Amino acid sequence: MQYLSTRTPDHRVSLSTALQEGLAPDGGLYVPERFPDLGPAAFEGCDTIEAVAERLLRPFAEGDAIAEDLPAICEATYGFPVPLRDVGRRTSVLELFHGPTAAFKDVGARFLADSLARLNETADRPLTILVATSGDTGAAVAAAFWQKPNVEVVVLYPKGKVSDRQEKQLTGWSDNVQTVAVNGVFDDCQQLVKEAFQHEEWQSRKRLSSANSINIGRLLPQMTYYAHASLQHWRAHGTKPTVIVPSGNLGNGLACLYARECGLPIGEVIFATNENRPVTHYLETGDYQAFETQQTLATAMDVGNPSNMERLRHHWPTAEALREAIRAEQVTDEQIKRQIRRGPDAWDTVWCPHTATAVDVRERLDDDSDRDWMLVATAHPAKFPEVVEPLVGHEIEIPELLRKVMARSKPVPQIAPSLDELGGIVFDAETPTSVS
Ligand SMILES: *Cc1c(COP(=O)(O)O)cnc(C)c1O
Repeated sequence: MQYLSTRTPDHRVSLSTALQEGLAPDGGLYVPERFPDLGPAAFEGCDTIEAVAERLLRPFAEGDAIAEDLPAICEATYGFPVPLRDVGRRTSVLELFHGPTAAFKDVGARFLADSLARLNETADRPLTILVATSGDTGAAVAAAFWQKPNVEVVVLYPKGKVSDRQEKQLTGWSDNVQTVAVNGVFDDCQQLVKEAFQHEEWQSRKRLSSANSINIGRLLPQMTYYAHASLQHWRAHGTKPTVIVPSGNLGNGLACLYARECGLPIGEVIFATNENRPVTHYLETGDYQAFETQQTLATAMDVGNPSNMERLRHHWPTAEALREAIRAEQVTDEQIKRQIRRGPDAWDTVWCPHTATAVDVRERLDDDSDRDWMLVATAHPAKFPEVVEPLVGHEIEIPELLRKVMARSKPVPQIAPSLDELGGIVFDAETPTSVS
């Protein structure tokens, strides 16, 4: 299998190259050249999520240096449960928040981390991953790469601009993961990463790479939980559920579509969005337009110009084609609050603000049609206590893995948004400029 750039379809690379480059040289995103034909029969005997993952991803790694390591990489990716929980009214919840940082991004980050560690086994110096984060992505990446050989990570976050709980998840690392608090906003952090990539000294002293969500190495593994859950549903009921995916940058929703393209028993796919409207606007009008990002209660979905739109439009080139593939529904902050408030009574569940968008869509489409529903729960509610606790009226217990991550939190260096100060830390980890 080869991977092509959305901007230059003739530019084809191997999976390993796509994983290490992240973005194609022309600025496009890598996509698989085709989808293998893998209906339920292809998964006979695959009962665990690791076994399903390996079977599904095998053709995607075919012919690549990484192929023989795929079973080990799938084992390293999971190691935590991904339950499909029945909540009544023909509805099940796919809980993607049992990993180390309690959100679905753990899956993609862990797959990419293990793959890159293996690909760099024979390199003479480690690969340095630079990540700018506004909160949750950085934590998932740091946790995934922590203590992996042959790779080191520098995480930049804006001091004072992330929640206390997010900060604790970002600052509990050591060894090959260095976190730096930047006195600035998220854009300053992103700017520093861009400057480092263009800077001669950085380029000569480090082998730089990124691990952001557009890397195909985060998208492919996300197909695997859809495969496992839809097979579980198919084996129990013989039906294809309608899947509702809380969506922002559209990676998770796209992975669900990829799984369906491969022949997995998935019915309608619905993207639940917050008040950010690039997708719903495009599907309604046929005009793609980037919007300014709006802040909502579902912060991890606050995206005005989703990067995976480029992949969606590559596979489904017109609005009409895309309308056949997906439906999108917008959910307001008021509706999110309402679903969190009524969650314990209506569904016996405390929802996180992101998952609440999927619940609202499920409620509004509560038609008489004969179908089953699968709601994708993207994060644990304990990650967002400021929003959730006042609405349900009690404290939310923090999952054990997340508590462990937060308990390791320690002071980290704090810098002005300047590449010189960042270099001072990264090139000489012994002498941090100041300590926050
Ligand atoms: C990242 C994230 C989303 C949005 O996922 P995309 O792949 O960007 O669409 C939804 N919920 C949570 C909790 C997230 O962290």
